[in-house]
Amino acid sequence: MGADAAGPRAHPAAEPPDSGRRRWLQGAAVMASGLAATAPAGAGPRPTTQGDGEVLDVLIIGAGLAGLTAARDLHRAGNRRFLVLEARDRVGGRTLNHQLRDGQISEAGGQWIGPGQTAVADLARELEIGTFKSDYRGRGVYCMGSGRVVEDTHGLVDMDPKLVAEVDALARSLRPVRPWAAPEAAALDKLSMADWLASRQVSEQDLLTWQFASVLTMGTSLAQVSLLQYLSLIRYAGGFQTLEGQKDAAQETRFIGGSQALSLRMAEALKDFVRLKTPVTRIAHWDQPVTEVHTPQGVFRARRVIVALSPSLCHRLAFEPALPADRQRLQRLWPTHGPFAKTAMVYREPFWFAKGYNGQIGCVDGPVIWSYDNSPPDQRLGVINAFVRIGEMPGDPAAAQHLLATIYAEAMQDQRFLAPLEFHLQDWGQEPYTLSCVPPMAPGFLTSGLMPALTRNVGSLIWSGTETADLWYGYMDGAVRSGHTAALVALQALQTLHAGREVSA
Ligand SMILES: Cc1cc2nc3c(=O)[nH]c(=O)nc-3n(C[C@H](O)[C@H](O)[C@H](O)COP(=O)(O)OP(=O)(O)OC[C@H]3O[C@@H](n4cnc5c(N)ncnc54)[C@H](O)[C@@H]3O)c2cc1C
Repeated sequence: MGADAAGPRAHPAAEPPDSGRRRWLQGAAVMASGLAATAPAGAGPRPTTQGDGEVLDVLIIGAGLAGLTAARDLHRAGNRRFLVLEARDRVGGRTLNHQLRDGQISEAGGQWIGPGQTAVADLARELEIGTFKSDYRGRGVYCMGSGRVVEDTHGLVDMDPKLVAEVDALARSLRPVRPWAAPEAAALDKLSMADWLASRQVSEQDLLTWQFASVLTMGTSLAQVSLLQYLSLIRYAGGFQTLEGQKDAAQETRFIGGSQALSLRMAEALKDFVRLKTPVTRIAHWDQPVTEVHTPQGVFRARRVIVALSPSLCHRLAFEPALPADRQRLQRLWPTHGPFAKTAMVYREPFWFAKGYNGQIGCVDGPVIWSYDNSPPDQRLGVINAFVRIGEMPGDPAAAQHLLATIYAEAMQDQRFLAPLEFHLQDWGQEPYTLSCVPPMAPGFLTSGLMPALTRNVGSLIWSGTETADLWYGYMDGAVRSGHTAALVALQALQTLHAGREVSA
């Protein structure tokens, strides 16, 4: 594996009872193509590599949560003829831990889960990775220009309840899965979130709150986000408050050892089934029984290929023959935005709580978009994380640290902020293998007719990654769901292939 170490071990949780689905997977794999070994997970033969010219059952491209979940399902189902190809020198994709002193971590990418995100929560339980809640008690600070407003946030989004009820009712009226496929969706997709709010009596403060929410959730302004897309995310969450709030919401629960621990632990168990530093550049013969996957490290061959990447990353690969026209267009037009830079400022202890502050600073202008307490569960260190506008940060790390520390000191009126122990910055915009977070869909995109190509598998190719999930796309939960689905599709395909061979034998 790469240099990243797994975080502290979690509190063990009860192993969930064996499910019918898992038994089905095991049965399917054993039947599939007569290729599956019956050895228990963790043991068994090493994966076949490109060197011996053999054809694998499945190649998985990408060792993020989606790709590793798919790999884990194949492995648990008894299959030993697959390989995960990962471009980076680490696993986890959009989840990454900053390594802090004393073995502590702070998440540099995806971090929270919330109610309804059961797939990722189940995975954590199975991997014996515990969870804990972010501490949002206390006062937050809102800054605009030189103004400063201190408020008790309670972890809730403070907004006109009538407006929230209206938006929730509208979200509830959507079809729960793939709402863009419903006939009435086009009318909602014509409007941006900003258009819809403009047609309501929305106070300036509420508008600002919406703007914050949109920037933090989708990385862009309300004018760039389709009303249909925003409503669909609210629909998944079960309400605006659950999507955008903190308490009992999608920004509340963290993993002990950080979210990357999920991928690290899966990769640890998969051992040689994961190849790091193996970027895929070309996929050839995907319309044939055996597909070739090209990397600088050699050519790999398999009957099925799970592509666990966002469509915009797929667009960077060469496909031979060319993909169907609608899939090509989808990949080309898929919205990208360099997700924000995320920083972690480390102190000896979270002293801000004693002064009644929760570490949250929301700024309309300036480099800090939103800061929050991100201390470890035992609060052995004090950590303030922040989403920052990288263009407004000095390039020099020492200057960047000083600027943020000064903002914290002024906002929370405490000079101790000026003397951090550590400063970390992860600029996702500089990462060639990450092009977006939750993809912001402009009005019209969802109903443009391209969306079916997102999940329509072609030839040997099985599209995966959080973007393809029916629920919680863009989130870690969606990634896990998409990995389960991809593994199931691959196993079913192998089973069919095997059945075909048996008939002709
Ligand atoms: C700053 C930030 C904050 C976020 N906050 C949250 C949050 O709080 N809660 C939440 O649920 N979600 C959050 N997310 C989103 C969440 O992290 C992602 O939805 C999820 O991790 C995506 O997993 P994935 O496996 O689908 O894709 P990825 O994690 O993108 O995995 C794709 C993998 O493929 C690899 N790859 C790319 N190209 C190639 C190639 N050519 N060949 C081989 N390998 C390749 C990549 O290196 C990567 O490892 C956040 C994301 C970011 C960036």
